[in-house]
Amino acid sequence: MAIHTADEMHSKIEQLKTADDISTADVFDIFSFFIQNSKRFYGISKGDILQSPDIPNTAASARKNGDIEIYNHTIDEIAANFRQDAKESGVDAVQSLLASIVPTCEHECDHLVQQEIVEGKRIHLDGSQFAKEQIAIAATRGSLYEANRYNMGFEQDANIVAFYRTPDVLEQYSPQAASFFQKEAPIQQPERYSCLSVPFGETKINLDFEYYGVKMPIHAPLNIAATQIADIFIPEIPELLQYNPVLKREYNPYGKRKPYAQLMQEKDAWINELMQTGQFRSIIPVRGKKYTAPDAVRMFYDNIIKSSPELQKQAEQARTNTGDVLSGGSDGHSVR
Ligand SMILES: [Zn+2]
Repeated sequence: MAIHTADEMHSKIEQLKTADDISTADVFDIFSFFIQNSKRFYGISKGDILQSPDIPNTAASARKNGDIEIYNHTIDEIAANFRQDAKESGVDAVQSLLASIVPTCEHECDHLVQQEIVEGKRIHLDGSQFAKEQIAIAATRGSLYEANRYNMGFEQDANIVAFYRTPDVLEQYSPQAASFFQKEAPIQQPERYSCLSVPFGETKINLDFEYYGVKMPIHAPLNIAATQIADIFIPEIPELLQYNPVLKREYNPYGKRKPYAQLMQEKDAWINELMQTGQFRSIIPVRGKKYTAPDAVRMFYDNIIKSSPELQKQAEQARTNTGDVLSGGSDGHSVR
């Protein structure tokens, strides 16, 4: 029976004493409950779990249209794996089940949030990078992702968000599961949680990128590499801007990169708009930290400039020309 309330979740946990008590239906119901739970937290309306008896089920992934797809194994297999793991590791079965399902739900829901960021519906420091990474992955037919999965900014973001959110969620249902997760996750999944100790989205990558038969080996931090590839493809296919509206802030409608001076003007205009509409009070959560909306906008542009050597040069020039007197923009008072 579907689990709708926290009370129902508590009694479900009570019922599941041993690994053998965990049925396939339980796994699916618990999964659905925590997906709904994090959708509410993030304020996302999309994200239905695709359930079809034909869909082989359950490592999860968020799809572009905003559904959560469960795949790779059947739910039966997943439930069987949980029972097996619980028996072998000697840990409490429900505890290990919760410590595995909750971070998956948080991770996938964060991807849905990222989708809204790329669509320009939410402000985020790394909105532009999320979008450029997607373009770079498509441009490399997935090879960028295959070789750098745990270093991609959008995966790091989802893993970090899940790492910080999971104990908060679990605390309410099983404090043991919460501390079990915090202690065990980085040990059991070192690759996934390496993001906790590396610089976000800037890990150096090596990519044999080929463009119309011309080899263009890329050896650069990810943010710069993704930008390099986006700079080639967006002018060629400006429609990419329609699919990734956040990039309209960085590229002009024909796909050419906006120069530094224009970006700075638009940044100031955006911040003024936030001031006038009262939105400057909104708080933007980013991987366990909180930013005011104007600060998030400033950092959004800082990150764009950091990702492009060309823009860095222009910024350097602008500083030499003006003596950097007014680098903070024209919003007058900082909320920092
Ligand atoms: Zn992911």
